[in-house]
Amino acid sequence: MAENRNDEFDFREVTDDERVDIKDSGEKSNGTDNITVEKNDVNTDNHESDNTKSEYEDVCFVCRRPESKAGKMFHLPNNICICDDCMHKTMDAVSQFDYQNMLNNPTLMNELNKNTGGFPNMGFFNMGDPTNGGFNMGGGIPNTQKIKKKSEKGAKPAFDIKNIPAPHKIKAKLDEYVIGQDQAKKVMSVAVYNHYKRVATDTMDDIEIEKSNILLLGPTGSGKTYLVKTLARLLDVPLAIADATSLTEAGYIGDDIESVVSKLLAAAGNDVEKTEHGIIFIDEIDKIAKKKNTTSRDVSGESVQQGMLKLLEGSNVEVPVGAGSKNAMVPLATVNTRNILFICGGAFPDLEEIITQRLNKQTSIGFDADLKDKYEDDPNILTNVTVEDLKKFGMIPEFLGRLPIICSLQALTKDMLIKILKEPKNAILKQYQKLLALDEVDLRFDDSALEAIADKALEKDTGARALRAIIEEFMLDIMYEIPKDENIGRVTITRDYIEGKASPLIEIRGDVQPKLTGTVAEQA
Ligand code: ADP
Repeated sequence: MAENRNDEFDFREVTDDERVDIKDSGEKSNGTDNITVEKNDVNTDNHESDNTKSEYEDVCFVCRRPESKAGKMFHLPNNICICDDCMHKTMDAVSQFDYQNMLNNPTLMNELNKNTGGFPNMGFFNMGDPTNGGFNMGGGIPNTQKIKKKSEKGAKPAFDIKNIPAPHKIKAKLDEYVIGQDQAKKVMSVAVYNHYKRVATDTMDDIEIEKSNILLLGPTGSGKTYLVKTLARLLDVPLAIADATSLTEAGYIGDDIESVVSKLLAAAGNDVEKTEHGIIFIDEIDKIAKKKNTTSRDVSGESVQQGMLKLLEGSNVEVPVGAGSKNAMVPLATVNTRNILFICGGAFPDLEEIITQRLNKQTSIGFDADLKDKYEDDPNILTNVTVEDLKKFGMIPEFLGRLPIICSLQALTKDMLIKILKEPKNAILKQYQKLLALDEVDLRFDDSALEAIADKALEKDTGARALRAIIEEFMLDIMYEIPKDENIGRVTITRDYIEGKASPLIEIRGDVQPKLTGTVAEQA
């Protein structure tokens, strides 16, 4: 068959002279002899020119490997790329075709597509064109499944050592958003500063700086996630937040452990370089503690801890691009986790008991013997945690060894809750004030009202998370009723209103000058 085709469409090598001639004259050959069109012209849809500009790597349509792994690609119509390997394999299977030359020949390609509905055994040649007997694949692989090309400047670190803000500056910025938690903010600022300094310098002579992964302990709603989110935003690094409860050992129902890296890759817009300097926050880490008294395989507990070891330490992982799990249709990218900062967070509810027991044991002996229930009701008992306590809780020593920085957040007090309501840059009350200011209504909160809200939140025992729910509840009526009456100029929320005993104080426009930029702090 190959010979036949060769007879029919003269596949001889084109000389340089011929190439120049035809290009110069601008003629288009319509015969099959002396076809001297440049190789790229096979791409009838100008894919090549698009692609050189594109920031994404090409992905082989058959084996799904990216350009950086599979090498140069053949570009076919409809944005379909095939790597050299797959092209060879397919061609070997078909015959000993001179396909290089055949691809160079647009007339031949058109002929083949018209007459045979594509190459024999090679459905992908016309997959993008339903009119040619193929089915539409949407023009090759979407960008969401492609890896971004490495920047041409080379592997320059993302952070210039001089540009890493000093720890006190990081903390000062955090102060604008996160209320209280001074110790945690301090520890995190130093850890992050050291981490990125380490990334920027790579190694210092023979002294390799250890990675400063962090374990954050703290009651629910105390701001663990919020702290990490704020930090990532300030540092302008990608952040992935994953939940440890959904992770299982590879092969079991649930997410593979490596899916956390896949999430970070997505957060970094499929840019591998950016991903390698990102932050991964794994929440609910206490849920993967070793199960006690179990005889079956602990696929979502100890095994997950084991599986995370290599990620935490730093290794190359193959992660699917643009999807949560690996399968034949998804391209893979290799990400090195050496410079990814891992922060694990959890409420560790039963840990309090373990710490209390230990402390009680220590203090109940000898002359220093203390009151037995000294630690019973301490809301900040978690700040006394030691590695031994965590081991007892069910975290394996190897896992803890890879999280050298342990830091506890305090339970939020009433004062802190009030501050959270009104002080952070994007405080929830400021948001409502701004919304109503757009209607030229001045919204005010009595101090006693704020106290009432904080009291209610404390009752719910879900930290600052309860605040939003409470405020949403009573602000609903206000947001519904106020815009009805254009005469209203000011609304003051009182304790009685929060407790359902009275209506808010309403003042009519004219009596008041609405303030467009008033804040709760100014008002106080
Ligand atoms: P968790 O500790 O359970 O991860 P989150 O970080 O999700 O708690 O906190 C829930 C919300 O409460 C945050 O979105 C944030 O708005 C608010 N919040 C919690 N703690 C603080 C804090 N210390 N300062 C300011 N806001 C906070």
